[in-house]
Parts: sequence; structure tokens; C-alpha cells
Amino acid sequence: MQNQLFIDGQFVPALEGGTIDVVSPHDGSLLTQIAAAEAEDVDRAVAAAQRAFPGWAGLAAAERGRLLLKLADAIEANADELVQLESRDTGHPVRDSRGLDVPRTAACFRYFGGIADKIEGSVIPVEAGFLNYVQRKPIGVVGQVVPWNFPLMFTSWKMGPALAAGNTVVIKPSEITPLSTLRIAELMKEVGFPDGVVNVVPGYGHTAGQRLAEHEDVGKIAFTGSTATGQRIVEASKGNLKRVQLELGGKGANIVFDDADLDAAVNGAAWAIFHNQGQACIAGSRLILHERIADAFLEKFIALARSIRLGDPLDPETEMGPLTSAQHRDRVLAYVEIAQQEGGKLLTGGKAPDDPALAKGYYIEPTVLEAKPGDRVAQEEVFGPFVTVLRFGSEEEALTIANGTDYGLGSGLWTRDLQRAHRLADLIRSGMCWINCYKRVSPASPFGGVGKSGYGREMGFEAIHDYTEAHSVWVNVDARIPPYYQR
Ligand code: NAD
Repeated sequence: MQNQLFIDGQFVPALEGGTIDVVSPHDGSLLTQIAAAEAEDVDRAVAAAQRAFPGWAGLAAAERGRLLLKLADAIEANADELVQLESRDTGHPVRDSRGLDVPRTAACFRYFGGIADKIEGSVIPVEAGFLNYVQRKPIGVVGQVVPWNFPLMFTSWKMGPALAAGNTVVIKPSEITPLSTLRIAELMKEVGFPDGVVNVVPGYGHTAGQRLAEHEDVGKIAFTGSTATGQRIVEASKGNLKRVQLELGGKGANIVFDDADLDAAVNGAAWAIFHNQGQACIAGSRLILHERIADAFLEKFIALARSIRLGDPLDPETEMGPLTSAQHRDRVLAYVEIAQQEGGKLLTGGKAPDDPALAKGYYIEPTVLEAKPGDRVAQEEVFGPFVTVLRFGSEEEALTIANGTDYGLGSGLWTRDLQRAHRLADLIRSGMCWINCYKRVSPASPFGGVGKSGYGREMGFEAIHDYTEAHSVWVNVDARIPPYYQR
């Protein structure tokens, strides 16, 4: 298990020698201690990335792509180990790490490996006598700060497009879940990425993260995490006016109409909120039910929630693991109190499971709570296995509730009415909308939010745009320009 910083192709201790405990969310035991990067370590990493930039940007694009493709192969070849590492560190059930996290990470690196030599510029039809062409140039050194909910997958979402486009990277994983990112760095070295192209600086947000966001030699900072930290990053980034990309929280509206296929909607809505213990920015955390079907829906939904198998993430039978940290578990449980103080009705869950085998871990039962649209649990991101039920009578009311938060990341609609589905998909304020499904993602499809869910897009060609600058070149091929100064 790698537990040091990765700078300029080497694993090295932090200059000040500080470490951070990495603990198992299943039982609180110590997994390892990782080096804690401080500001000077980040400076070293940025300097290495800066030295590596001309060589990496100047490499044939197909060669950059080839290395990303080799990395995708290496991830698949080491899948078993990555599954274990990710599940131990985050609490993701192995069935998810194996079925989703690892294959999605490989697929994303592979997609961007394929795109690397297809980042074409354009020729603009300007006035006669001039040739104007536009190239897409890499930005330079990019800083990337990622959270603890999908640490492995986020390495590919963040690094894939950045590297394909010719940027070099300094990435700061969450201090809570740094292990898979360090293993990816090791695999990158093995498959031949040049030294300094990728640097990994695990450390605390207020030290290492803050330094990366304010660094004068970093051309862009890409961040996934909470809205409050996103705002701090914008503030820290302003010294050199670096580009900022923010993928922040969400309060996903998942609307079920009275004509929906109820069984499919029940299953989809449960996956939307309970997958990954609800620790997903796109989670369908507001379940907005038509009043005619709400009771029938809830009966099936609550029965399904109660049947979800909680357990050791390393057990292949486990469907829901622990939350990733004790602090976060406490934060989620506090929302159960807050909701009830505001008049919310707890329908199931809202506490740690009774199973003594799980007593040391950060587990919470799947929780369903009915509330009102203005309540805090209908407005604030809880980020746990916690869904807020709201009822509506008309399509207009459903839309008003759906659009009634500051967030706008993911949303879902369950209906058999094709016209209504498209009409509402157009009117819901969110970066992604799923119709009769939820939480579909693909490396080829843009991902990101509006409002306080942030700006910029990950994945697809949109991500390449976000990691490049348009460089416009004008050539006088045959223009007689009348002199401006008549002498
Ligand atoms: P956070 O935003 O504090 O942390 C995310 C990352 O930002 C971590 O790597 C952290 O070290 C870093 N960071 C923290 N402060 C920083 C700073 N001042 N400058 C630069 N980097 C900094 O998130 P959290 O405390 O781990 O979780 C709190 C809440 O955030 C969650 O409950 C949830 O609502 C939300 N969240 C959202 C996502 C998402 O995918 N959108 C992911 C994780 C958490």
C-alpha cells in the first residue's frame, strides 16, 4: 500500500514529516498512515509538473493517448487489488467496486486515451485574403482537488481529459481516502508516464488544497466537493485569475408521476439514493411523488429499503456499506433530528443498524423521511442514505418543487407520457436529467451542474474544451490592407 507523496515520478515523504491516519470505515481500525503534504510539498509538485509540461504537451497526441490506453489496461489487469483497496478505504461494497468503480475508471481513461489525437482545431471563414485557424492548446499545470466519495473514479474523470489535452497534473485526493489515487500513480509510472506529468499530494484541504488553489503557477483548478469549499477555492484562485471548474453538491429531484411503471420507479429511486450509501452529488435525494400513487409507492419503497443488505464492504453479498467517515455519519444522523424538529415524519431508518457485527463501523440504515419543500432536509445536501419524500398534485407543482433549491446537478422523471417527459426535461434546472432511469453516466456524456452545483463539465468533448484554450492564428495570405497611417 503506497502511503507517500508522489512527486516527479518518485514516492517521497512530506518535507515536514507529518502523517494522517487512514482508517477503515467498517470497524475504525487503522489501515495506514499517509504522508500529509503541506504548502512546500505542493510547491515541489507544481514545479515538477511545470518542468514536465513542455515535454508532455509537445509529445505526439497519439503517444499521450497510447499511455492512457495502457493505463486503462493496467487498471483492468490489477482490478482485484484495486477493488479491495477502494472498498477498504471508502466502504464501497466490493460488488460496487468490482461492478462499477474499477470498470468505470478504466473505461474513462480509455475514452480519453482514444480522444487524445482527435482534439481538432478549426478554420474560421473570415474575410477574403486571410486564413484564420484555431488550435486547442493545453492550459499548463492543472490542480485537481477531489473528495472521498468516489476517489478512484474521480482520478479518471479529472486526469483523463487533462492529460489527453496535454496538461500536467497535481492532484490532491481527500485526506480520508487517498489510497487508490496513489496506486493509480504507481501504475502510471509502471506503464511509462514521464516523471512529473502526474503528481499526487494527499493532505488536508486547508493546507495542501488551499495552496494548490492559490498557486500562481497553476493555470486551472478543478474541484469536486462541497459548495462551501468550492466558494473558498474561487476566492483562493483569484490571485493569478486561474480557470476554475467546480463540481459541487446536489439535491437531486426524482419525480414519479401517477402513470409511471411503479415497480421500475421504486427500484430506480432506491438505487438513486441508496447506491454508495447516498454519498453521491447526483443522488436522487428528493423523492417527489404524485399524491395519487404516493402511498402505494412508499409501501413498496420502504419494504425495499428495509431489505437492503448492510454489511462488511468486503463481503460480496453486501449491498450497502458504511459511510466513509465517522464525522460524516454523525453529520447525516444530525439531519434526522433536524428534520423531525421541523415536523418531518421518519418513515424508516434514521439510526445505526442493531447488528453487533457492525457496531464499530459508520453504518446508517436506509432512511426515508417525509418533509415539506422548504425544510432543511429538502434544501440542504445530506449526502447519506437518506431520502426526503415530498408530494405533489399537478405537473406545475412538481416542477416548482424540483426547481426550488439552489442546486441543479441531477434530476429524474418517471412517467409513460412521452410529451410530458420531454417537456419537463426541458424545464428542470439541472445539468443532467434521466427519464425512466437514474444516475446514468458515461465518459462520452457531459457531466456537471448549474447554480450552486457549480460550473464546467467533466467527460465527453465538453471536458476537453474545459482543459484547453482556443488559440486563434491570423495569416495574411493575399490581403491588400490599406495603410491606416497615410504618410
Ligand atoms: P469538502 O468539500 O470539504 O472536501 C472535498 C475536498 O476538498 C477534499 O479533498 C478536501 O481536502 C478539500 N478541501 C477542503 N477544504 C479546502 C480548501 N480550503 N481549499 C482547497 N481544498 C479544500 O467536502 P467534505 O468535508 O469532505 O464533505 C462535506 C460535504 O460536501 C458532504 O457532506 C457533501 O454534502 C459535500 N460533498 C460533495 C461531493 C460531491 O461529489 N459533489 C463530494 C464530497 C462531499
